[in-house]
Formats: sequence, C-alpha cells, structure tokens
Amino acid sequence: MQRRWMRRRVLVVIFTVFIIVFVDLQFRTGSFPKVNVDYHPTPGAPRGSSAPEDARSSVSNSSTGGGSQPDVRRGQPVSEGAPATQPRLKLEDIYIAVKTTGRFHRTRLATLLETWISRTKTHTFIFTDAEDEDLSSEGYNLVVTSCRSDHSQQALSCKMSAEYDGFMASNKRWFCHVDDDNYVNPEALLALLSTFSLEGDVYVGKPSLDKPISAHELLEGNATRKVQFWFATGGAGFCLNQRLAEKMSPWASGSHFERTSEKIRLPDDCTVGFIVEKRLGISMVHCPLFHSHLENLQLISQRSIPHQVTLSYGMLDDKMNSIKVKGSFSEEEDPSRFRTVHCLLYPLTSWCP
Ligand code: UDP
Ligand code: MN
Repeated sequence: MQRRWMRRRVLVVIFTVFIIVFVDLQFRTGSFPKVNVDYHPTPGAPRGSSAPEDARSSVSNSSTGGGSQPDVRRGQPVSEGAPATQPRLKLEDIYIAVKTTGRFHRTRLATLLETWISRTKTHTFIFTDAEDEDLSSEGYNLVVTSCRSDHSQQALSCKMSAEYDGFMASNKRWFCHVDDDNYVNPEALLALLSTFSLEGDVYVGKPSLDKPISAHELLEGNATRKVQFWFATGGAGFCLNQRLAEKMSPWASGSHFERTSEKIRLPDDCTVGFIVEKRLGISMVHCPLFHSHLENLQLISQRSIPHQVTLSYGMLDDKMNSIKVKGSFSEEEDPSRFRTVHCLLYPLTSWCP
C-alpha cells in the first residue's frame, strides 16, 4: 500500500517536472503565439502586434532594393549582448520638425496645429522664415530661421540644416522631419520607431523614386564623380535615430549641411540620403507607411489609416490628390482630409461632430 502510494507520488512529480520543462521550452523557442502584453523593450525587437501592420513586413532595407525582404536590420542588434534596460520609447522622445514658410502659416500650418500638432505640441518644432507673434504667444515652438522663403534647393537645405541643428541640441532620441502638407499619426509613428533598437543606425522613410537617385558629386578641381543612393522623400517625412544623426555631424552640422547639398547640387532630402548612404555607408530603411502627394493617395484604404505614419495632400497631374476617407467633413469643408482623419483617430476632439 505504502509502495503504491510512493510510486504514484513519484509519477506525479515526474509528470509535473515534464510539464514545466515542456512549457519552459515552448516559451524559449517562442512557438506560443505572442500576446502583446510584453511591453518590455527588448532592444530592437519588434514589439509584437502593436506595430503598424507588423512593422517587420512594413520595412525593408534598401540593400534589398526596397523589395519584399522583411528587414529591421538597421534596428538590430536584437542581440543577446545588448543591454536589456533600454527605457521604452515615449512620444515625447521624438523631435518632430515641420518645415513651413510665412505664407503658409494661416493655411497649411493652421490645419496641422488644430489636428495632429495638438497632440504633439511640446516636442514639435516649426521651422519657418517669418516671425509670427500669434503662434509664439500660443506656446508653439516656432523657430524663425534666416533662410530664404522660396522653394529653391538652397532655401530648403537651409531649413533642413536648422532642423538638424535644432534636434542635435535637443537631446531627443529620434529626429523626424515633415513638410507642412503632412499629417503625422503620432501613435503609428511611435509604434514604428519602437520597433528599432537604439543600438542600430536608423534612417527610415519612403523613396519617391523606384530606383536610387544619381548625382554628380563635385570633387576637387572641378572634377565630378557619379554617385547613386536612395533617399527618403522629404514630402513624405522621414526619421533618423540619435545615434545615426550624431554620425552625420561632419557633413550635416552647422554650415556643413548646405555645403554637402551644394556638392551634389540636390535638395535637402537628397542630401540626407547622400550623407547616410554614401558618406556613412548605411542603408536607408524603406517603409511604406510614409506618404507624400507624389503617390496616388486614393489607394490608401480607410481601414489602414490608423496604421499609416504620415499622410499628405496636394496636386498630382493637375488634380487634387488626397486621402479617400469618409467621415466628419465633406471634401469642400476639408479638402486635405486631415480634419476627417483626425476625427477618425481622435473622435473625442472638441470640434469633431
Ligand atoms: N516651401 C517653402 N517655400 C516655398 C514653397 C514651399 O519653404 O516657397 C516649403 C513648404 O512649406 C513645404 C515644403 O517647402 O514644407 C514643400 O513645399 P510644397 O509642398 O509646396 O512643394 P513640393 O516640394 O511638395 O512639391
Ligand atoms: Mn508638398
């Protein structure tokens, strides 16, 4: 009787140990479906299902030609050796630079201020060329540069240079640039950037061309050299992490940025791509969640809007190109569709119907 009882106990113990080992093994190999409760920031590890449309398949490294290869290599190492104590990225860790010009303060910029900038005011910096007492007194971070107000390569590079310097002085973890015809979806931006490790060098955005741009870099004595590189179109917005931004300093800080831009005779966004890919040999991360009005914005489904990082509007082939979204406002009331998008994302906003 005693022996049978003992044997039964031994069997129960063996069975329990087996179950524990089995469960442990399953967790280690990750073959259980991952539930998005683990919000601990494993460096570089994409954070499960909260990432927009699973950022693992939303970004690809340019060395793959922007193809379908899922790749957050720039965000790696997800390595075992990396410190496990990286603080979770917060929205306020992102320095958002908006490029604008005096004549757009009351039009384009006003739409941004009442929509997405209302959610990111403290860490959004508006780079312009004209004083605006109203904006300053309302507590916006207005940076009045001495850049020219036109759309020339020199004027645009001058503002981008100021954006870069502003970020470098800020001690924030990410730099994101957008134009004044971009809607930034703060939650989607945070989700995307949270998928990258601070251990990597990250330059993420979307090219407007389907192949690398060619430029003729000016060398000593009027010689030139043909260079090809990817760049993220400024009109769709792009981001750089702090680590990479620091490495760019010899070609991007102070007067260097404009000088680099002149060397390739291309505008600001191309200059960023040139510095990252050709001066530093780091590949851009291609991400389809950024959008400029150079692409057909009607193709973005309403269902996917909460996952998109940036949107835009503008003229394309003499027609208005904007997001197709049904909701709070008609196209006459809200031609950019930004107010409608904003009410879709934040329905409790006071002015949303
Ligand atoms: N911009 C500017 N001066 C101008 C025209 C535009 O500083 O004379 C800025 C504008 O505020 C925007 C960016 O340059 O942030 C791109 O301008 P736009 O959208 O008009 O042209 P795109 O380059 O997208 O065709
Ligand atoms: Mn534009």
